[in-house]
Amino acid sequence: MGVSEELFDRAQMVMPGGVNSPVRAYRAVNMAPRFIARADGAYVYDEDGRRYIDYVCSWGPMILGHNHPAIREAVERAARDGLSFGAPTRREVEIAELIVDCVPNIEMVRMVNSGTEAVMSAIRLARGVTGRDDLIKFAGCYHGHSDSLLVNAGSSALAGGCPSSAGVPEDIAKHTLTARFNDLESVEELFRAHEGTVAAVIVEPVAANMGVVGPAEGFLEGLRALCDKYGALLIFDEVITGFRLSLGGAQEYYGVRADIVTFGKIIGGGMPVGAYCSSRQFMELVAPCGPVYQAGTLSGNPVAMAAGLAQLRYLRDHSGIYEQLDGRAARLAAGMRASAAEHGVPVAINRVGSLLSPFFVPTEVTTFTDAKGSDTARYARYFANMLKRGVALAPAQFEAMFVSEAHTDEIIDETIAVVDASFAEL
Ligand SMILES: *Cc1c(COP(=O)(O)O)cnc(C)c1O
Repeated sequence: MGVSEELFDRAQMVMPGGVNSPVRAYRAVNMAPRFIARADGAYVYDEDGRRYIDYVCSWGPMILGHNHPAIREAVERAARDGLSFGAPTRREVEIAELIVDCVPNIEMVRMVNSGTEAVMSAIRLARGVTGRDDLIKFAGCYHGHSDSLLVNAGSSALAGGCPSSAGVPEDIAKHTLTARFNDLESVEELFRAHEGTVAAVIVEPVAANMGVVGPAEGFLEGLRALCDKYGALLIFDEVITGFRLSLGGAQEYYGVRADIVTFGKIIGGGMPVGAYCSSRQFMELVAPCGPVYQAGTLSGNPVAMAAGLAQLRYLRDHSGIYEQLDGRAARLAAGMRASAAEHGVPVAINRVGSLLSPFFVPTEVTTFTDAKGSDTARYARYFANMLKRGVALAPAQFEAMFVSEAHTDEIIDETIAVVDASFAEL
């Protein structure tokens, strides 16, 4: 028995499922999870001393790869000055200014401690702005684990087979209306049936918690138009897409304006950070300026801000980085497709920028229904085949592969060779 297995046995005695976040438990692939001891660049190293090329990248934050010197040094410097003050600090101003500079259509930022908190607060703001209670979300989109949003959710809620959680009161869940991603008619039907009560439509502009499914031509523009028509706000949950598709996120990438934008993952550089952003008019409804209450003891934490600021500055100052990430991910997708064709594996490889995912289906995947059709048992075999050859993927079908700056062309080619061997064995 390896060290990971020993630690997992102990972990299961003292933590539900042995983990602090469900997908980490590897249940969807029926294995014991690897316990990670350290990480550097494109690699993670487990407690048994094995090295893996990592495409989890902490579920998105590590867009520059692991243990990047610019971020590590910023964190070390900040830690020397004290870990938390519960008072305003210079870096909070600097990171807010940087976010406002980079992201279109926003004028103000509120920092929180996770993507969940960012989205939960954005919903409260949308309800405060409109005086309406209902919310439209899309089946298979994941927006964190707050009560309003654990209805038909994606990510590990989906892999675990409980897309709607126990413990969410019906009185709250009834305000969350579910539409179909890439189906504008399903959205308009809800607007018509709930005329005058919908505060906001919330969407992952690229759905990345059902595997990766991009928006169909005109879908995001159509949401914008429907929100305008029915007086609702459009919330882009950019916890994954923010600072990944481009410096301005999906709003810039697709040229569609959102009223409220949420961030997480990349903006913390690996530390627990989230943010919600909007116009001055809306953000000044948030406490202490206005009646929408929201607060946080550790919000804008100096060490977390140092990490986020270092990562965002690096992305801003390396202008070719998004083309480079796109090229690397395209190379990987092309290699996977060629290998699938050679071995006769029916697989759809979806990719948007540096996000990609394989679905084990013989057809295209453009909807949540298509995504759910993937052969998850086959994904589990593929996952195990890859892991034993030194490539760590998300341990569940309905997640993205994240390509980072540390995934060089050589590492991508090594990965393609491993995919080839793994597909051959399926
Ligand atoms: C990860 C994620 C969240 C939740 O963020 P946490 O930091 O895990 O709370 C919300 N929305 C999207 C789109 C995400 O991918």
